[in-house]
Amino acid sequence: MNEREYQVCINCVMDTTDSKITFNEEGLCDHCQHFYGYIKPKWIVDDESEKKLNDIVARIKKKNRKKKYDCIIGLSGGMDSTYLLYYTKEVLGLRPLVFAVDTGWNLPVADKNIDNLLKGLKLEKVDYKINKEEMRDLQLAFFKSQVPYQDLPQDHVIFASLYNFAVKSKIKYILTGGNLATESIREPNEWVYMNDLRMMKNIHKKFGKIKLKTLPTASIFKYKIYYRYFKGMKVYRPLDLMPYSRQIALDTLTKKYSYEPYENKHYESRLTRFYEGYWLYHKFGYDKRKAYYSSLIVSNQMTREEALEKLKKPPYDETVALEDMKIIAEELGITVEEFKTMMNEPNKTYKDYKNSFWLIRLGVWISKKLGMTKMQYR
Ligand SMILES: [Zn+2]
Repeated sequence: MNEREYQVCINCVMDTTDSKITFNEEGLCDHCQHFYGYIKPKWIVDDESEKKLNDIVARIKKKNRKKKYDCIIGLSGGMDSTYLLYYTKEVLGLRPLVFAVDTGWNLPVADKNIDNLLKGLKLEKVDYKINKEEMRDLQLAFFKSQVPYQDLPQDHVIFASLYNFAVKSKIKYILTGGNLATESIREPNEWVYMNDLRMMKNIHKKFGKIKLKTLPTASIFKYKIYYRYFKGMKVYRPLDLMPYSRQIALDTLTKKYSYEPYENKHYESRLTRFYEGYWLYHKFGYDKRKAYYSSLIVSNQMTREEALEKLKKPPYDETVALEDMKIIAEELGITVEEFKTMMNEPNKTYKDYKNSFWLIRLGVWISKKLGMTKMQYR
């Protein structure tokens, strides 16, 4: 399987480092074919989408007339959620509850961006405290498991606590910064995998040291079925219904809130930056920028030449990466040498652990048939 000859798409920058990528006769990859065939025709931002967004906003306002908040937004400090929060409050006139999970990995620049934004919007955030000892135990277990997807524990806990908090606070509307403008070409499963609680638990059972008693968790079925159908929760992605691009967000946020952009998408967190730019890149040869740049290419926000040029350089400075490794090792309670040894051990995937892959895949397939998702999945 690894004998495959290197090939890169003629239109985007996805290539055979995605081992299941396929190309048509012209050399157009299946990500692009999916985008032009299924996503682009339905992703139309016009009067109609504006009306749809306005209708949603009117409904949310009406339903929450007597409440303190209309909706909840999880704020990471990343550009998409930052822009969403600005737009929700200032343009749509909603009253969001701002929810933040302190995972202890945010870089100072991200904290500064969050502070500036909240000050400018005259909003306060709810800081959700997680048990740091348990979180670090789970994160170290993940590194030891040798799987690529090192942001899973953090993502899982962030989303689970957001949803659980919303239920507890009786807030039924969640607005997310998920968007097609910067995420229409998804990373393949082998690079990022998915929210698989069964695998997470199995990895922790094998490599964890303490019991996870307080970390909030939620299986994908809890997200898709319990919250939606039993708790009446609704999740919206407003950024897909209005003109949105990286440039629009950057211009607005820098002008209004002295926002400082990060080197790459998701680089507001030290752990994420290290995992994407070093662990994934050096240990597995996966470069998440390829999917991100490809999304920008198909939505005409970057040229292919520009992306190829950027990809010649590593995702981030090697000296900074090693500095990050030192801080992360210390935080996880191991030495840098131990971390380096761990990095040299054989790579694994979700297949090496108990997982719910087929069940989740079936769920996605059903959602697709019901027209609930356009996600490409493999
Ligand atoms: Zn392509």
